[in-house]
Amino acid sequence: MSDLPESAALPAYLRNLNPPQLDAVTSTEGPLLVLAGAGTGKTRVLITRVCHLMVTRKAFAGQILAVTFTNKAAAEMRHRIAGVVGDTVEAMWLGTFHALAARILRRHAELVGLKPNFTILDQDDQIRLIKQLLQAENIDDKKWPARVVHAVIERWKDRGLTPERVGADPAGEVAGGRAAQLYAMYQDRLKTLNACDFGDLLLHNLTIFQTRADVLAEYHKRFRYILVDEYQDTNVAQYMWLRILAQHSRNLCCVGDDDQSIYGWRGAEVGNILRFEKDFPGAKIVRLEQNYRSSGHILSAASGLIAHNRARLGKTLWTAAEGGEKVTVRPVWDGEQEAVYVADEIEALQRAGEKLGDIAILVRAGFQTREFEERFIALGIPYRVIGGPRFYEREEIRDAIAYFRVIVQPDDDLAFERIINKPRRGIGEASVQTLRRLARARGISLLASAETIVTTDELKTAARNAVRRVVDDFARWRAQVERAHHTELAATVLDESGYTRMWQEDKSPEAPGKLENLKELVAALEEYDDLPAFLEHVSLVMENAEAAPADMASLMTLHAAKGLEFNSVFLPGWEEVLFPHPRALDEKGAEGLEEERRLAHVGLTRARRRAYVSFAANRRIHGMWQSSVPSRFVSELPPETLDVKSEPGLWGDGPQFAAGGNERAFGYGNRRAPLIEGRATEIGGRGLDLAPGMRVFHQKFGYGRVVAAESGKLEVEFEHSGLKHVMESFVEKA
Ligand code: ATP
Ligand code: MG
Repeated sequence: MSDLPESAALPAYLRNLNPPQLDAVTSTEGPLLVLAGAGTGKTRVLITRVCHLMVTRKAFAGQILAVTFTNKAAAEMRHRIAGVVGDTVEAMWLGTFHALAARILRRHAELVGLKPNFTILDQDDQIRLIKQLLQAENIDDKKWPARVVHAVIERWKDRGLTPERVGADPAGEVAGGRAAQLYAMYQDRLKTLNACDFGDLLLHNLTIFQTRADVLAEYHKRFRYILVDEYQDTNVAQYMWLRILAQHSRNLCCVGDDDQSIYGWRGAEVGNILRFEKDFPGAKIVRLEQNYRSSGHILSAASGLIAHNRARLGKTLWTAAEGGEKVTVRPVWDGEQEAVYVADEIEALQRAGEKLGDIAILVRAGFQTREFEERFIALGIPYRVIGGPRFYEREEIRDAIAYFRVIVQPDDDLAFERIINKPRRGIGEASVQTLRRLARARGISLLASAETIVTTDELKTAARNAVRRVVDDFARWRAQVERAHHTELAATVLDESGYTRMWQEDKSPEAPGKLENLKELVAALEEYDDLPAFLEHVSLVMENAEAAPADMASLMTLHAAKGLEFNSVFLPGWEEVLFPHPRALDEKGAEGLEEERRLAHVGLTRARRRAYVSFAANRRIHGMWQSSVPSRFVSELPPETLDVKSEPGLWGDGPQFAAGGNERAFGYGNRRAPLIEGRATEIGGRGLDLAPGMRVFHQKFGYGRVVAAESGKLEVEFEHSGLKHVMESFVEKA
């Protein structure tokens, strides 16, 4: 129950809360769940509650444990709490699950057979270790790549399963049914190395708490209050950790929104939030209904969209900021035009006084950032990529570029060293040192030294053969520079080097995105005359990255945008080929679709005043042009909340709403009632009367023959690009 006398004047830090928020902040004792929609002040409640606990002396900072989803969110929270309570905030246990669990583990490492200075291995090292185990066990790592085994172990850890408890889990079929055994061996190896991985941080904590009542009692005594933000995205191991820590005080406060659960693919269990009341009997549930973030139309658009999900608790949200701007819906021709459009709008917003820091572009897939980055750089719009590196700084892009650099410039030792054993080809550190030694002694490049050394017995046979293959590969690729088109050469290099395969075999959640980025890279090459011109461009782009001005637009994936807010939010790429992401639908069906819809909902609800949804008629995905229709999510947005811009010549006569039963869908325009004048006559909108068999010319795909024609859309067999679906407005009779 609230502990405030009704009549007392509220202290300043409590004054700007509405009644249910105040209730949540001041109901300090017992389990509490704040289950509420986006922008209703959940995070604000959490922060204020921490302040309240300290100000009312219910707890010292050191007795409060607060969990955030990212380190960035933790820093922000620390800053805001310090605003009320000052430096004492430093003693608080505030951070991500990983950071907090690591801190606890350091203090009791010996209880799980580690020393306090244990190393936390990164993913590369984890995989290398598993590879060694596979070799030692004579398990064919072509058939069962280390990365696959690694992913299985990781998911088990997410679910709180130690090797003994894996049992007959179907995932154990991997590695010829020996996955559980490998898991046990992997854990032993980690111990020998005095190391652990991320999943272990929590699992070791659990082991300690479960086996050492005295240690657990110490933490029970210490943590009088536990608070968790973004609770809908906790996994089972995290849930178990919270539960055991909160067992004693029962003062566990979780805030979350089932409609924003977007990490199911990484082991998060939205079920954790749905069964809170069952797990913590007598829990108080507070619902917040007033949204303070978004103006009326944006909120209605987001609510209308998420209402299409079945698996949800359902909630009503309202805002005092009625009306406001409608959600702009903007069709574009392709990704490049989309980037031009977004950049133009950003410049217009800037002229109207908006700060770049109040603007975000939220994409579904990492590869999408490239076109925006290129455009921003061209126009000099400062930007940052949040939650990940800029496109050309990403691991796989740097690796690929390193290959290209060695081809163009064989003396580029840094590049050569980066990829000499990536993918792993059995060229270990010792061999590389031998190469370096020779290079230094003779004053030649590493590659030249490699060329020489393979004619000697300096290296062990296996390593020598491996180095020889690399040397031969580069010689062959270099010979092709003059003959092959540079984009083809690039694709060849990535394939023949085994680099693409490395990521194809990688079963970690990041791998598909990396493959997409590689395809996007090859596609980007098309815009340049040759490899050197492209490399020149990249180095200029990277240079631009160095000067970081204070005010920057933010570019990030929808996943990284959780919890954040911006005045203006751009949501590009709302197309069926991209969003909902086909992979999510393939792997998880209807459930996957609902998670994608929650992601769209997270995107829209980041916007305070302006949201811009755009979709392209043509999208290059995996390096191939695909015609696309607008995402089903576009048609699920309530029309009265939208301001639909039409684009001359696109979608036949421009997209418009076509009523079909109860469902409203974006359809292709009726050609007899042209909506758009002007440019339409230049590039489209003409009745060409195209019939199957006719020869046509298309700007991107070149010449081809019409196979089928229907309501402004054509199926054309192009001479070079094969069968494509294109818009009639964009072809000419040839
Ligand atoms: P999300 O679900 O996106 O994480 P949230 O529920 O955590 O959102 P907050 O980020 O805490 O919401 O709040 C959203 C915005 O509304 C913030 O700018 C916050 O300062 C503001 N806000 C919250 N409560 C109030 C209030 N009572 N009065 C005025 N502004 C408020
Ligand atoms: Mg929040």
